[in-house]
Amino acid sequence: MELLSKYKGGLKKDYLGKLDIGEKSLESFFDPKYLRKESPPIPSPSEVELVRHFVKLSEMNYHIDKGMYPLGSCTMKYNPKINEDMARLPGLVNIHPETPESAIQGSLQLMYELGEFLKEISGLDAISLQPKAGAHGELTGLLITNAYFNSLGEDRKIVLIPDTAHGTNPASSRRAGLNVKEVKSNKDGILEPDSLKEAMSDNVALLMITNPNTLGIFESHIRELANILHSDGALLYMDGANLNALLGKVRVSDFGVDILHFNLHKTFSTPHGGGGPGSGPLAVTEKLSSFLPIPTIEFEKKKYYFNWGLENSIGKIASFYGPFLVIVKAYTYIRMLGVEGLEEVSEQAVINSNYLLTRLKDMYSLPYGKNCMHEFVLSGSDFKEFGIRTLDIAKRLLDYGYHAPTIYFPLIVPEALMIEPTETESKESLDGFVEAMKNIAKEAREDPDKLKNAPSNTPVGRLDEVKVNRELNVRW
Ligand SMILES: *Cc1c(COP(=O)(O)O)cnc(C)c1O
Repeated sequence: MELLSKYKGGLKKDYLGKLDIGEKSLESFFDPKYLRKESPPIPSPSEVELVRHFVKLSEMNYHIDKGMYPLGSCTMKYNPKINEDMARLPGLVNIHPETPESAIQGSLQLMYELGEFLKEISGLDAISLQPKAGAHGELTGLLITNAYFNSLGEDRKIVLIPDTAHGTNPASSRRAGLNVKEVKSNKDGILEPDSLKEAMSDNVALLMITNPNTLGIFESHIRELANILHSDGALLYMDGANLNALLGKVRVSDFGVDILHFNLHKTFSTPHGGGGPGSGPLAVTEKLSSFLPIPTIEFEKKKYYFNWGLENSIGKIASFYGPFLVIVKAYTYIRMLGVEGLEEVSEQAVINSNYLLTRLKDMYSLPYGKNCMHEFVLSGSDFKEFGIRTLDIAKRLLDYGYHAPTIYFPLIVPEALMIEPTETESKESLDGFVEAMKNIAKEAREDPDKLKNAPSNTPVGRLDEVKVNRELNVRW
């Protein structure tokens, strides 16, 4: 032990060695009245206690690494870990926003190429990677719409939005100073060309549509809807949150879309929820390209560069490179999959969703459609006679170890349960979910209190949701 004893290891008082300057008391620096008499009550757990504390907290939480997350509209797919590895590469993490372009050619190339991929996937002509979420993409698209019609000297201030739309669509429209007019879907849950014609007027700027829509149904009249809008000089905006159903199968430009936002954090993985981080690139047709936010990223004479010179640009909407590390993750995801992989994503997402739909529709009613794209919406209204609401069904699912689906949206389905399994779930995991839903349907009839008191196996029971929102307490 001779050698070892030379090194004073462990957490002994003098393990850092002796001071080589004179020691001074705190009192020689501060008036003693400002000094504590006793040490503050800071816990000093050991490493193992600390690790166990945080592991326990992570187990109390629910996350995609733990189980299925059938949250409709949110595309909660599993996030491949390689994305995180790439987004932690020091060369990408440590670039300073003011680094000269010549020193960040690789990062610019990555952003440029992601833009090109998204242009190919959508068939659209120009893109901005700056918006930081789907809703931010919507706002950007609507500001572009305003600028476009201003440049034509036209006063178009109405946005048409189907009754199945996500709440961000009308919210973004108002934020952009536009007025919203709702258009009703037909009994099959899609928009009828005649309803659009009826809603048209001189000051309609655009139709904002989600396709497949939030019922998980493809808007099969989309081409005709586009024609009606275009023949009147109006635009077609597509909310691309549900693009997971279309990758490599159809380009939105083929059915007449002028503006599209992507939700990179949905379609192209990236952990999301709880407020971020997100990325909502915006793609447009040629005639709108000069209105995009600055800077765009261009490639010319073997150099990638920021283009600050777009003549009609709406200006800046984000700082520096936008949500760069989300862009890195989406880029990695797309490169790992390639064209065939992307097509398979959509095929499998649609197959998984139809499998679940087929197995669940005898237990829960299906108000719209017979089959679906990447998601579907059931109704819990059959259980009302037993005093059970969709909220109770969702809470009971937590007891079975599943995250709840999206509930009470879209608004046109009473007691809605919106389910999106995504392509990353196996048949076994889907079967487990069906089994839980089946048990819950049985309990709702035979033992409704089980649902009303749910959840009972989770770290906290049923919360008063209004109180939770008004008096948020994150201490524990
Ligand atoms: C998620 C979603 C949005 C909003 O996107 P964010 O990235 O959450 O801002 C808009 N429309 C639909 C249909 C969505 O599912």
